[in-house]
Formats: sequence, structure tokens, C-alpha cells
Amino acid sequence: VFAGIAQAPEDPILGVTVAFNKDPSPVKINLGVGAYRTEEGKPLVLNVVRRAEQMLINDPSRVKEYLPITGLAEYNKLSAKLIFGADSPAIQENRVATVQCLSGTGSLRVGGEFLAKHYHERTIYIPVPTWGNHPKVFTLAGLTVRSYRYYDPATRGLDFNGLLEDLSSAPLGSIVLLHACAHNPTGVDPTIDQWEQIRQLMRSKSLLPFFDSAYQGFASGSLDKDAQPVRMFVADGGELLMAQSYAKNMGMYGERVGALSIVCGSADVAVRVESQLKLVIRPMYSSPPLHGPSVVATILKDSEMFNEWTVELKAMADRIISMRQQLFDALKSRGTPGDWSHIIKQIGMFTFTGLNSEQVAFMRQEYHIYMTSDGRISMAGLNMRNVPHLADAIHAAVTQ
Ligand code: PMP
Repeated sequence: VFAGIAQAPEDPILGVTVAFNKDPSPVKINLGVGAYRTEEGKPLVLNVVRRAEQMLINDPSRVKEYLPITGLAEYNKLSAKLIFGADSPAIQENRVATVQCLSGTGSLRVGGEFLAKHYHERTIYIPVPTWGNHPKVFTLAGLTVRSYRYYDPATRGLDFNGLLEDLSSAPLGSIVLLHACAHNPTGVDPTIDQWEQIRQLMRSKSLLPFFDSAYQGFASGSLDKDAQPVRMFVADGGELLMAQSYAKNMGMYGERVGALSIVCGSADVAVRVESQLKLVIRPMYSSPPLHGPSVVATILKDSEMFNEWTVELKAMADRIISMRQQLFDALKSRGTPGDWSHIIKQIGMFTFTGLNSEQVAFMRQEYHIYMTSDGRISMAGLNMRNVPHLADAIHAAVTQ
């Protein structure tokens, strides 16, 4: 019965790795997928994660019972505290409904489904460009996706006026997706002053913020600093949605550990919101997995392990920052035409190089370097050994 089925296209981001894996070249570099790599080019499991896993394995009282629909309660509390801050008024007033979800993507999807069912305005505005999965997740959740200007190719920075104009003309009450920090794919974030203007505008038009936080701690190396924009929106007492992921900042990628928090107007509303989130989740996957959030909770609740995590997290962030400098220096020393200062100005895991799709194809063909066709490179895939090869390739691509 499926004989006539069409072959689906590869996912534009994950397809880069599929092509990379097929390439036999010894000099190939995968700068496609946003997963951290060590200086040796290897995936990293944090020491603190290994330690937490060992503790859990050695604890004979641990069983494999189902979690509740909403996930591990302790983990949910700790996650809300991590992003909103321990002294957050919303947490102290019990106005936050948090449910454990399948990493960032699952949190966005559950949040999208909840909004499509219960919120009066079905339109969500997403930045241009944005992570490629955003429009698909929200469309399939039942929302109408529109866009707002975000990135200015001319400056390789924020199109702040375009952003303000587009949000000003959005219908009252629209949902707005905001990258909490380290915008993917551009690595361009608003300044704190700009965030404050965005906040004022959004609140004045009752636009509902839906934050996507996939990189807390990865942008600056500080968990609190990266959470500052979100906390400004919580401090004003207004509502918002928050999708959190531990994929990058704790290296928990395949464990699919995330959380959706909805900051509500009162504790009473939060209880009712949580009851409705259960109705969204139950027919999707019944209840979330146990292992990942147990590891995360073990780390977050123990001050010594928490500190160890922050040190390991900062080391990852610092390595990425140093790769930015090395790539910038390598291009400068080659005299590569153009202003490459955006490489050191942009933050987080990605650099939006400004290379066009022909240049990207050239670099794949001639230099075995793999990246998404929009010219986004994952800085985590770079190390001291492969930076010169990348710089040679970029130089050749822009001067060919
Ligand atoms: N949002 C953004 C902006 C991302 O970059 C990612 C990961 N690439 C995600 C969400 C989702 O990641 P995950 O589902 O692995 O947590």
C-alpha cells in the first residue's frame, strides 16, 4: 500500500551530517550540526554528568516506574529556578507551571499545541532567519506562522528598526518567538538596552513572549548573564512561555531533556494551565523519560556538583570563543577580502559567515567542508588543527 510513496527530502540541517558521513576525505570538517566537540574533535560527556549517572546507578532504591505526565517534579522546579532565578517573583508566588518535555523541540511543540488550543490569538511571529524547525513545529501545532525582521545582511548584525517596526504592526496579543540568547543561526543578540525596548513594546501591545532557551550558559559562559533578558520579562509581572533545553549546556543531546514553563498571572491560573498541559501531553507520549531529568536534577540540587557544571560549561563556551578569534586571525593573516569582525562579535555556537550558497557548495566540493546552505558554521566543530583548512577554504571561496 505504500509502494507509491515519495522519497522525502533530507532535513536541511541533519542532512549535512548525512552528506559528511559519506565523504571519505581525511580533511573533511563537519560544521553543520550544533553539537559541541572537544579540541580533539570528539563528542563530550561532562565529568559532572558521568558522576551523577554513577550515583544514580549505585542507588539501589531507584526504580524504573513511570513518571507522572508532567515529569519529574523536582527537576521541573530546579529548571524554572535555573532560568528565572531563585529569587524570581513568579516562582515565589507559585505562578509558574512547568512540565518536563522532550528537550527544546518537545517543549516548543507542547507550548505551541497548548496555545493553539487555549490562547485567543493563533499567530506566532518568528525571526528571519531562525532555526529551521521553528516554522514546522508551530505550523503542525496549529498556529499560523508569520515573521519579523531580525538580521541585517548588510551589517551582519541586528536589524533593530525592522524588528521594532514589524512587532509594532503585529496584531494585538500575537505570540512572538524570541531566542533567549545566542540566536540560531545568526549569533546576533539584542543588547540589554534593545531587549528593554523590545519588552516595553511587546508589553504595550500585549504581545505574548515565547522564549526558546537552547543555549543558556553557552553564549557568555554565565548562566545568569544569558538568562538576563528572560528575567527582565518575568520581573515586569507579565505572562510568558519558556522552552528550555539541556542538550547543549549539559551535553545531554540524545537524552532529550527539556522543560516548558508557562509564567501565569496567578498561582490559581498556573494550576489550571498545568492541568491543561497534561491533556496536551497524555495523547502525545503519555509521560516523559526518567533518566535525563534525574541526572540534571542530581546536578542542579547539589551546590558542589552545580559548581563543577558551571566550570565545565564555561570551558566549552571559552573554547568556542577562542575558535572565533583563531578563525578571525587566520582570515586576517591571509588577507581575505571583506570585514570578518562579525566572527568575533557574534556569540554562541554558530557564526553566520555571510557566505552565499554557491560559496558553501564550492567549499563542500573543493575543501570537503560541510555547513548549512545559509552559510552558518558551528564553531564547536573547529579546533586548532582544522581552522587553517577552513580559513583557506573561505579565502578561496571569496576570491575565486
Ligand atoms: N531551539 C534552538 C534555537 C535550537 O538551536 C535548538 C537545537 N538546535 C533547539 C531549539 C532544539 O534542540 P533540542 O530539541 O535538541 O533541545
